[in-house]
Amino acid sequence: MKNNINNIIKYLKGSNDDFIVTSHISPDGDNIGSTLAMYYALNKLGKNVSYVLDDNTPQNLKFLVEDIKILKSEEVNLNNYSIIALDCGDKNRICLSQELLNNAKKIICIDHHASNDYYGDFNYIDIDASSTCELVYNLLMEYEKSESKNIIDEDIATCLYTGLVTDTGNFVYSNTHPSSFEMAKDLLLKGAKKDTIIQKIFQSNPYNYYKLLGEALNTLDIVDGKIASIMITKEMLKRNVISFNDVDGITSYTRDIEGVEVGILLKEKKENEVKVSLRSKNYVDVSKIAQSFNGGGHIRAAGCTIYSSVEDAKKKIVEAVVKALQGEKYE
Ligand code: 5GP
Ligand code: MN
Repeated sequence: MKNNINNIIKYLKGSNDDFIVTSHISPDGDNIGSTLAMYYALNKLGKNVSYVLDDNTPQNLKFLVEDIKILKSEEVNLNNYSIIALDCGDKNRICLSQELLNNAKKIICIDHHASNDYYGDFNYIDIDASSTCELVYNLLMEYEKSESKNIIDEDIATCLYTGLVTDTGNFVYSNTHPSSFEMAKDLLLKGAKKDTIIQKIFQSNPYNYYKLLGEALNTLDIVDGKIASIMITKEMLKRNVISFNDVDGITSYTRDIEGVEVGILLKEKKENEVKVSLRSKNYVDVSKIAQSFNGGGHIRAAGCTIYSSVEDAKKKIVEAVVKALQGEKYE
């Protein structure tokens, strides 16, 4: 079913279902922020809600989930439930078991990825939105209006502000709109813990992160002055005692170089499995490139997994980016 925020509100109000809130694999700030905000909101509305995600929370986002239990799929024992998938552009990326997914009464999808194909029974998708947190904010504001009661408290505001700042790169990326600032203002007035968010997420990198970063920057490679890539192997992660999910911030180093249009981070997950992150600055649609490798994302930030060695994955993705650059108009 196509977009309809009111149908989602109606369903939430009318149903006796239990709810599972979840998101995509490799969690980031918008993933956890939007899921947790929805979890708190549904709890407040008297629903029985479980937060399920079969992946690990990055170190710098742990402060958000200290007080709650994120369940793994095998810990869930529900019969009559619907799933709310947040910030997940692809049904295959929803990070819980196939069994839980198959037995859900309804799937409600709230998302802002350009590659989303409206896989939910109910969808609220806006690819221009800064973040899924902005969509959850809109939905909760509508809900508040319809019931004349306040839902967004300090905790929910903190979650939503987290997704907003992480997905806009601190209000820098092109998905930052006037509505993003309006929402930020309102969330701050509602008690979002801005300073804690900034310190925990952007100013608490462990020493090991910098050792890894040094090694990673040594692999920096620039092709035609326009494509930059960095490789992180599993040996590098092991040597520097840092987790796979804790190095995503390194992606921006590839894009932030003068003249570079497309930045690529290649992270080796296991042998012959490489997670690729793509970023563009001005004109290349990296979501399309990611989709050609069965991935997806946004025009300026996307990702995919390539099943080969890191060197081979690099060759393949650089080749695709070169082609995309040749096909683009230079304005
Ligand atoms: P990142 O590079 O930070 O992992 O992801 C950038 C954006 O692309 C995020 O919005 C993320 O959800 C999306 N993305 C990353 N990897 C994949 C993938 O394999 N498939 C899809 N559909 N989206 C992805
Ligand atoms: Mn997002």
